[in-house]
Amino acid sequence: MSKIGPNIQNLLKSLPPGVTVVAVTKTRSSEEALEAYNSGLRVFGENRVQELTAKKAVLPPDIIWHLIGHLQTNKVRQAVAAASVIESVDSLRLLEALSMEAQRQERVIDCLLQVHIATEETKSGFTIGEIEQTNWSFLSGTLHSVRIRGLMGMATFTHDMEKVRSEFRSLARLFSETRNRCFNNNPQFTELSMGMSGDWKVAIEEGSTMVRIGTLIFGERKIKIK
Ligand SMILES: *Cc1c(COP(=O)(O)O)cnc(C)c1O
Repeated sequence: MSKIGPNIQNLLKSLPPGVTVVAVTKTRSSEEALEAYNSGLRVFGENRVQELTAKKAVLPPDIIWHLIGHLQTNKVRQAVAAASVIESVDSLRLLEALSMEAQRQERVIDCLLQVHIATEETKSGFTIGEIEQTNWSFLSGTLHSVRIRGLMGMATFTHDMEKVRSEFRSLARLFSETRNRCFNNNPQFTELSMGMSGDWKVAIEEGSTMVRIGTLIFGERKIKIK
């Protein structure tokens, strides 16, 4: 028997109300993803556009798909066609490309700004300074087909939970500062996506509204991808 259902029940039991679980299905089969769906989850995350599109085609249509991995501009068209939310917007150039493409497809796409909070160089995202120095309300007024819904970040991959906590704390502080500075008259800026299988409890203690969980639901990934 698969453990996917019980894993999800355990997770949901310990999650405070108002926190969304994004079931991260990268490298998992459609059958595994369907089990998560049948256990009640509706928000799924993939970090590659092609894999997202392929799974979306064979899974129930009411799944809400989040793209959580780096998006190249040449895949923007496919991403806008398939995803509800792009959690990994890591440059202004990408935000502009998403808005242009969404306008072309006659839709509005929800976006999170990914912030680089970890020590590792490999993780992408805006710096904290870039988020602080950008007038997001002005930008929102010019990019009509994207809706900036909040921030996303990944902590350093480490067992040092105090380091992880301080990274999440600075992201949460940036989130509320940005909301006050740029989205005070605009209730769209509500999401703080932080926390994965290894650190979701700390993330929630620090104010996360959205946790992206793969391993805790589906078990260890056999294929290693960054
Ligand atoms: C893979 C991935 C996750 C989930 O990781 P787990 O440790 O398996 O829960 C979350 N966020 C992003 C951006 C990922 O790439």
